[in-house]
Amino acid sequence: MSEIGRLINEHIRTLEPYSTARDDFKGRADILLDANESWFSESGVNRYPDPRCTALRKKIEEVLSLPFDMTAVTNGSDEAIDLLIRIFCRPGIDSVVIERPTYGAYRVFADVNNVSVIDVRLKDDYTLDVDAIGRTIDECSPRIIFICSPNNPTGALYSRDDILAVADMNKGITVIDEAYIDFSGSDGMWRSIYDNRRIVVLRTMSKAWALAGARVGMVVADPEIQEAVMRAKPPYNVSALSQSAALDMLSRKDRIEAVKEDIIGERKRLSSYFRTLPFISQVFPSDSNFVLVRTADADRLYGYLASHSIIVRNRTHEPLLDGCLRITIGSHDENDRLMEVLDGYSL
Ligand code: PMP
Repeated sequence: MSEIGRLINEHIRTLEPYSTARDDFKGRADILLDANESWFSESGVNRYPDPRCTALRKKIEEVLSLPFDMTAVTNGSDEAIDLLIRIFCRPGIDSVVIERPTYGAYRVFADVNNVSVIDVRLKDDYTLDVDAIGRTIDECSPRIIFICSPNNPTGALYSRDDILAVADMNKGITVIDEAYIDFSGSDGMWRSIYDNRRIVVLRTMSKAWALAGARVGMVVADPEIQEAVMRAKPPYNVSALSQSAALDMLSRKDRIEAVKEDIIGERKRLSSYFRTLPFISQVFPSDSNFVLVRTADADRLYGYLASHSIIVRNRTHEPLLDGCLRITIGSHDENDRLMEVLDGYSL
């Protein structure tokens, strides 16, 4: 059995996947009486969507360079996190590693699947503690290590060498969540899969591609893992409306690039502004579409902004993030308003 095959849970490896009506028939089909759909087509979505997202994956390959046979499309990258835990971890037995502070969903999906979570703190400079992760690997043999890069909520990319060092030490799967990669100037790490087949990269169209409401995520992985994801996922996990919205946005790459550049410019403008504020003691460097800032009393500043109808994310209760608020980069006008309101905050 291959290295990957040994890592995939046996019940997934031997799973007989659900066979959809359209899987059973190849050829010319004029009259579709196979899937108990309605003939009434006014909605434009009376037919089930393509379970394999074939057209979308072709477009993803063309626009994002992510190879067709290495990409599975999921209902947001959140669904991918859940699927990967279910594919690689045995409930009640296995564990996953996360580096806190980080995105909260890894823990929730591990909990839902009765898979234990081992926290490794980031270093004081919010970089990966490779030595501590190495010790955890030796002690606990995790099935998955999640690495969020750029990290949410701290905002910065991790060093490529640190990530690869962890992935090489890890005998299980290393998932690199690149939800914010488009704002980082980096092309991401999916090409490392050719050197280490246990690396899996997550992407999403929820951030730079402005499709959070459509729920379109991507797993980029060795074809053996890609195939396991395709088999284990709900057959119609990405709706026809979402597939078509994603295809449409991918055809508008130039526009998305322009908006992304605007967000990066606004990130610079806001970060510089935050640094001038006496009540902000730290502005975290960001490769994302948000900036984390530290203040003496995060609850008070959060409440003040909320009283002016501006909602940010309070991260003060996360480890190492005492006093921290995460602020998404809005439109130019929204950011102007934020600055105007912050100008009126008194200590
Ligand atoms: N990963 C990270 C790091 C995120 O911040 C988020 C959303 N906030 C997700 C994944 C989930 O994104 P999606 O909308 O693709 O499920």
